[in-house]
Amino acid sequence: MPHPWPADDPASLAAFYGEHQLKQDGLPTAGWEQANLTAFIAPYPMVLAWEPTRTVTRVRCHRKVAESLKGVLQGILDHYGSVAKVRAAGMHLYAGVYNYRRISGSGSLSTHAWGAGIDLDPDHNGLGRRWEAGKGMMPEAVIALFEAEGWKWGGRFKKRPDPMHFQATQ
Ligand SMILES: [Zn+2]
Repeated sequence: MPHPWPADDPASLAAFYGEHQLKQDGLPTAGWEQANLTAFIAPYPMVLAWEPTRTVTRVRCHRKVAESLKGVLQGILDHYGSVAKVRAAGMHLYAGVYNYRRISGSGSLSTHAWGAGIDLDPDHNGLGRRWEAGKGMMPEAVIALFEAEGWKWGGRFKKRPDPMHFQATQ
């Protein structure tokens, strides 16, 4: 394994990425965010998948995954060779990293709550959909780039696949 990512359970996630400190509104404190999160300039320009007129240049994520995530995005750019080809593959369609929330339909915090998960091209990779070749779903090269960094791809989740999603867990 290239990185010692934690197991995908609430206790291991909190131990590795930091137990949340919450404000009265139930969201993480500024102090927690400052201690645990960072931001980097995306290697290629992305847009918000649900609002494509909005450009995303900064990716806010957990400090422990920043170098790895930036490296994977750089790897995506290198693989396609140009921003235009990245766009043609839909890999500029950013659907979020840090977002303090629970897994949909579950009481457990999502890896997004720690800034340790990323969603790309949600329209072609909807929650619950099984990956199929030739349908414009998550490119195999992108899956391979994340998995080479030890990230888990949601398309392999057994109960409910989430092919738009990658997370830094075992
Ligand atoms: Zn996700």
